[in-house]
Amino acid sequence: MALNADRTPGRVDRSSAGAYSLPIVTETQLQPAPDETEHAGRLRRAQGVAAAAGVDALLVSPGADLAYLTGYDAIALERLTCLVLPAVGPARLVVPALEGPAAQASPVADLGIEVVTWQETDDPYALTAGLLPADATTMAVDDRMWAVKALALAAAAPHVRQLAAGPVLRELRMRKSAAEVAALRAAGAAIDRVHARMGEWLRPGRTEREVGRDIAAAIVAEGHDRTDFVIVASGPNAASPHAELSDKTIEAGEPVVVDIGGTAAGYCSDSTRTYVTGGAAPAEFMAYYAVLLQAQQAQCAAVRPGVSAQEIDAVGRDIITTAGHGEQFLHRTGHGIGRETHEEPYIVAGNTVPMEAGMAFSIEPGIYQAGSHGARIEDIVVVTGDGAERLNTTSRELTRLDAR
Ligand code: ZN
Ligand code: ZN
Ligand code: ZN
Repeated sequence: MALNADRTPGRVDRSSAGAYSLPIVTETQLQPAPDETEHAGRLRRAQGVAAAAGVDALLVSPGADLAYLTGYDAIALERLTCLVLPAVGPARLVVPALEGPAAQASPVADLGIEVVTWQETDDPYALTAGLLPADATTMAVDDRMWAVKALALAAAAPHVRQLAAGPVLRELRMRKSAAEVAALRAAGAAIDRVHARMGEWLRPGRTEREVGRDIAAAIVAEGHDRTDFVIVASGPNAASPHAELSDKTIEAGEPVVVDIGGTAAGYCSDSTRTYVTGGAAPAEFMAYYAVLLQAQQAQCAAVRPGVSAQEIDAVGRDIITTAGHGEQFLHRTGHGIGRETHEEPYIVAGNTVPMEAGMAFSIEPGIYQAGSHGARIEDIVVVTGDGAERLNTTSRELTRLDAR
């Protein structure tokens, strides 16, 4: 099939694999058909989007894409496991023989996907290439497929052009179903419970690492299956948006940025609050924190269907820039969230994707004053029919924790 090489007007392809663009998928195409399970609907829609993009088959290895499409949440290992989903025709799942029982026990069996096993001395790449449609000219591999596997698949099917599947699968994954929104809401409530307990751990004299260890345990205790990341950035460390936990001691009156997240039932949480403990924060910090709070509030209020991702970014950036802190807002406003902490849509200048009900992403402006301190406020929001729902609801004011 011919590749659609034209860029659809009004869409900016910000993925690294921007080799092709897609027609906009309408909401009706995404509605489940009667009697169809959620995974069956996703497989059908993925086939439809692949066909529209001129992709003859999607090849999906273990990871968020495979779990999303089939419910088979396998760990990526060196042996090849790969879903072969042709644009037209039945799906098959290639798995090492020793993983066969696990695959059969997963939702894959109920979806009618044939499980094709390979033995230790077989060539799984030749096997997989043999499952491509006979006339295939284009295959798309999932964005996270290990390079060694993608290269081996390319070698096994030398006449089939290889693309990244991200542009196809993001059309599905960035529009969350009601069940996915419910899962994100539960994860958001769990991370809010951790923030609500911050006074138990955060106080002067403790190190960031000590506080981080307690938070990591609480992320699991409050309902996540695992902790994904913990940032506790105090004083000058908070001027780096992705600061690593350090052995620095938290001082009285130092602002502390706490950005934490975990995964609950396959869906991620991610929320940032800024705290001060054991004293008052510096006056210049309080002045820009008020600006940040106003910007974050305005951005959340701006979210509704039809508004573009870059417009949401601009709403907050304008407020922060007008107040003289534009150069200290170092990063985009936010990222989509779902099975992965960072996924489409990205809330950044240049991204004209219009908001639709079901899109979920972070609103997390920050102001970073190198050498002194920094602040960030982050909520996950979901676009509704006429606005947005915030999935994080703890206070966004600078929270003063009394040292005990
Ligand atoms: Zn981040
Ligand atoms: Zn975060
Ligand atoms: Zn985030």
